Order: sequence, then C-alpha cells, then structure tokens
Amino acid sequence: MGRGHPEAPGRLKAIEQGLDVVGIADRLDRREAPEAPLDAIKRVHDEFYVDELLAIAPTTGRVPIDGDTVLTPHTLAAARHAAGAGIAAVDAVLAGDAANAFCAVRPPGHHAEYARAMGFCFFNNIAIAAAHALAVGGLERVAILDFDVHHGNGTEDVFRHEPRVLFCSSYQNPLFPFTNDESVPGRLIKTPLRAGVGGSVFRRAVERDWLPALDEARPQLILVSAGFDAHRADPLADLNLEAEDFQWVTERITEAADRYCDGRIVSLLEGGYALDALAASAAVHVQTLLRAGER
Ligand SMILES: [Zn+2]
Repeated sequence: MGRGHPEAPGRLKAIEQGLDVVGIADRLDRREAPEAPLDAIKRVHDEFYVDELLAIAPTTGRVPIDGDTVLTPHTLAAARHAAGAGIAAVDAVLAGDAANAFCAVRPPGHHAEYARAMGFCFFNNIAIAAAHALAVGGLERVAILDFDVHHGNGTEDVFRHEPRVLFCSSYQNPLFPFTNDESVPGRLIKTPLRAGVGGSVFRRAVERDWLPALDEARPQLILVSAGFDAHRADPLADLNLEAEDFQWVTERITEAADRYCDGRIVSLLEGGYALDALAASAAVHVQTLLRAGER
C-alpha cells in the first residue's frame, strides 16, 4: 500500500519463517488460493459497492479509499484470492479433505462492511467464507471468533441480522474502528479490553464471554479471524498478549471445535504488524491447529 505501510508483503514472509522455526513448515498440506467468484463476494457485499471498486481500481498508480486504505493495480486480485482462500478452505474442511485450515492471506478483511472498504480491508474474507458455508455448504449454524486487536466491525455489519451466525470479537477499545461495546446475547458477543491489558485478563474474558456463547450456539463450523496485533510488540495497538496467549486461545478454539463440529476450523489471517511477533504468534496458532488435526 506504499512505502512504510504496515500491511506489507513482509508479513507473509515472516509467517513462513515462523513456521520454519517451530519445525512444521514441511508438514503442512499447502494449497494455492483460487480467485473468489464475484457471486460469492456479493453474498455479503452490496453489488454496486463491488462493481464500483472494480471500476475505480487503477491500472497504474494508486487510488486512496481512506487515509490507510489504498487501491493499487494488484490490490483487488489479491483481495479476490484472499476471499477465495477462505471459500476453498471451507470446502476442504466440510468435505473432510482437511481437518482444519489456516489461510495466510492479504489484504485482511474484517473491517470491510457491506458497502464500505476501510482499515486496509476491501472484501470481508471471513464473512464471505461464512456465507459460503451457509449457502453452499448447507450449514445452519456457524461461529466466527475474532481475536484481532481491532473490532471486526465489518463482520458485525454483514451479519448483524443473521441468526445463523454467532460472532464473538475481543478488541481494544477505544481504538479504531471505535465500535460501541453492546453485545446481542446469543448472536453478537463483544469483549472490549482496555489499553495495557495482558494475557490473564484476555484469557478470563474469553472464558467468560466466548465459551458459554459457543456452548449455546453449538456451531457446525468455527471460523477464526486470526489477527495477531494484540501482541505486546505490535505498533498499532496497546494490548500486551504474548505468543503463548495466541496458543492458549487456539487450544480453547480447537477444544470447542472438537466438542461441537468434529474439529472443523477455518482460520484466516487478519492483522499483526510487528513481524517477529507475527511470525511467532502465527506459528504457534498453526502448530496448535496441526496438532488438533492429527488427533
Ligand atoms: Zn487489527
């Protein structure tokens, strides 16, 4: 998105290195992300919004959407493959062709609303994957768990009136996108955390808010908006999680998935901008998914 922008290609290289450091780089079943069909994207986005983005995408230079969010000639191709990764992962997991999946994608998606790009996000990858699981996979109940440090306002916007989706999001507030903290029991669970909060408060909040909601919802698939920017080292926020906290929350998610849906999890990368912290945190997240898938 331009020199010095945190949402940069080095993030995916860092994750590759992190997987290597924990010794699982060669044990993963790797797949290329196909391009999402526009129909699948338009299940959760306004069709005029999608067509407008396609129309204004530049062939050279950059088109700013907001102060942080910029279209380059390659952005929408990447965004369509990012959305396609989630769809392909849902298909693989529902078919029993994979126990679970992690999608190392850019750009992220959870800030993209029904008709608005914002916060580095254009297409809401996790919402597109969830809508695909409902519409094509025939599921009746899915859960989206979002531990990115920023609230998943886009995901909330898309599924605000969708009773088949439970959306749980932990986030620092006040912080972009400055959401309100009002939960809707059984459907929309918001877990705001104050600046400076560390792993023990985060863990208690997840146990208090997410685990009972999952128990009530009994999802047939768990989708994860896996952002790692709540890490202590992240430059965009002020929570103090460590890689072990991401391992802990991933363990709780795999336990819930084992309990309700035969371990079916599709996780998509959202934020995480301190490269060493992102590498270590994403690596233990994937390592925990890999272990769970081998059980
Ligand atoms: Zn974030």
